[in-house]
Amino acid sequence: MSDTASYGFDTLQIHAGARPDPATGARQVPIYQTTAYVFRDADHAAALFNLQEVGYIYSRLTNPTVAALQERIATLEGGVGAVCCSSGHAAQIMALFPLMAPGRNVVASTRLYGGTVQQFSNTIRKFGWSAKFVDTENLDAVRAAIDADTRAIFCESIANPGGYISDLPALARIADEAGVPLIVDNTSASPYLCRPIEHGATLVVHSTTKYLTGNGTVTGGAIVDSGKFDWSNGKFPSLSEPEPAYHGLKFHETFGGLAYTFYGIAIGLRDLGMTMNPQGAHYTLLGIETLSLRMEKHVANAMKVAQWLEKDPRVEFVTYAGLPSSPYAERAKRICPKGAGALFTFAVKGGYEACVKLVNALEIFSHVANLGDTRSLIIHSASTTHRQLTPEQQAAAGAAPNVVRVSIGIEDADDLIADLDQALAKATS
Ligand SMILES: *Cc1c(COP(=O)(O)O)cnc(C)c1O
Repeated sequence: MSDTASYGFDTLQIHAGARPDPATGARQVPIYQTTAYVFRDADHAAALFNLQEVGYIYSRLTNPTVAALQERIATLEGGVGAVCCSSGHAAQIMALFPLMAPGRNVVASTRLYGGTVQQFSNTIRKFGWSAKFVDTENLDAVRAAIDADTRAIFCESIANPGGYISDLPALARIADEAGVPLIVDNTSASPYLCRPIEHGATLVVHSTTKYLTGNGTVTGGAIVDSGKFDWSNGKFPSLSEPEPAYHGLKFHETFGGLAYTFYGIAIGLRDLGMTMNPQGAHYTLLGIETLSLRMEKHVANAMKVAQWLEKDPRVEFVTYAGLPSSPYAERAKRICPKGAGALFTFAVKGGYEACVKLVNALEIFSHVANLGDTRSLIIHSASTTHRQLTPEQQAAAGAAPNVVRVSIGIEDADDLIADLDQALAKATS
């Protein structure tokens, strides 16, 4: 599709990045299950290897099925380019890779997916990188955490596990003042509910494993670049200084707004190899075709279930930001105008024991460590993902022993409510 600017979201989620296959006319994006691509001649090969011409060399770097998905996600997020990779966690490493170096740090929200807290607390230290965790509700604390070695601010748009809404414009202003990019993990919202670039984000990362694919079939990730950041401000030598691996080419000077995306492919995928496979890209392309329809139903169901839970005497509190009673209700309307997502927590009277009984008694909800599936999912974090933490750490993470996290699916809301009703009766009797 050529003029994507004039089309609406529902059109773009089906058509962006997809053209009838030039060889066969195939209407659906084919799965290009190939490792390598034949060069026209030696000059063509040389031009590709010198980054003088864009094309396909080897599927660790580029593949037409994956390229279609990259273009679709970039278009839906309003970015100039995207790099897909093998998982959401790979996307996070790939997002930081062009920015960081030993001794550099990222200022990260305390409210993040549990796996991200692990990755940022421990694993990235092996690269000499580090994370400084701050409560992003406290903007002064965010400003104070930034130092001369900070190279990014990282948060989630709809944040785990409580479904809180981050104040993206305020965080983007702080990032701008500091000359560093704001990276927003938009997994829990999807570009249908939230478009972080419109709120000032530089980069958007996704676990495409979740809502974008939508049905719990494949893992994948993506990094989208807004194309707006000045990588030549002195802090990002990987993007502004001569690159020895490409004869001293300077990515920002040569590729302008596409510098970060080209670096992610030409250096990131080439050398880290966290590549998405074409079969996985195909599943995710199929999933995205119905993203808006699914998100509408996820949000409508989450609202009905949250409202029902809020009134139930067996429930202590519900954190859903879509509820008018939520302290995030106003912000949700600004940042996620089409709905506050379908991820939230609620507290059960009776504490740890009642939560364990509730999870065991549910019939439609699956007890799994996942979110963003068509199916409704539940997890009792204190006895699973957060069981190694102290009670204080559990409470700070929004995963106290009396709290369960739900990801509301697209089943019939009345069936979900009936399931919760019978399970709460067993849990609190
Ligand atoms: C699942 C998830 C991740 C990690 O993604 P994987 O695809 O599982 O590697 C990161 N961030 C958020 C918000 C997630 O939900």
